[in-house]
Amino acid sequence: MGNLESIRDPIRIKALIRLAKPHTVHCKDESATARFVHDLANAIAAFFTKSARAQESSPATLFVSLVGDLGAGKTTATRYLLKALGYEGKVKSPTYSLCEEYSIDLSSQVSLRVFHFDLYRMQSPHEWQEAGLLEPFSNPQGPTLCIIEWPEKAEHTLPPLDLVIRLDHMNDAQSDLARSVALAAHTPKGEAILNSLPTSAL
Ligand code: ADP
Ligand code: MG
Repeated sequence: MGNLESIRDPIRIKALIRLAKPHTVHCKDESATARFVHDLANAIAAFFTKSARAQESSPATLFVSLVGDLGAGKTTATRYLLKALGYEGKVKSPTYSLCEEYSIDLSSQVSLRVFHFDLYRMQSPHEWQEAGLLEPFSNPQGPTLCIIEWPEKAEHTLPPLDLVIRLDHMNDAQSDLARSVALAAHTPKGEAILNSLPTSAL
């Protein structure tokens, strides 16, 4: 009932429409994807740096999902994102482990924990929780970024996601390297990230 009431509120409807409106970027090849992801990484780093300065009582978190078919470029985009955030090591696809964890120093003050999930192989939506992977969502220890491939496999067991990024092959007869990248903010936090992207990125 509470939900129905709030949905009838015209201001809230307007806000929901604004939040749900996706931005779409066309990346003609992998280096274009890398450039776009670099801008996104800067926006994410700025978000965590600003949150650390504000000295909030609970750690800053950002939950980002990556959706799209197999081979669309979700893991590739994650590799570029981690690299742009400053991670120099190898980024393994978490297809078998469900989750890989990284620690990235954004500055001498901010150490970011990154959890890269790939839920593709899960047989049931609760498997990631049964594997003990709830902590970054329920009890984050410091600034935390979660990147989730195949969130649809978890159905309704994930908490609200701030940003949803959809990668698709483009129907380009000349090249199979072109991708469309659609970004949608699902929370005000996600919206703040989108708004801080340079206009050249969008
Ligand atoms: P997913 O994780 O979505 O299943 P991967 O990232 O593992 O996909 O694979 C995507 C493949 O497509 C990689 O081999 C990557 O090099 C290639 N690729 C070609 N063009 C692009 C592009 N524009 N953006 C991202 N990946 C691309
Ligand atoms: Mg993948």
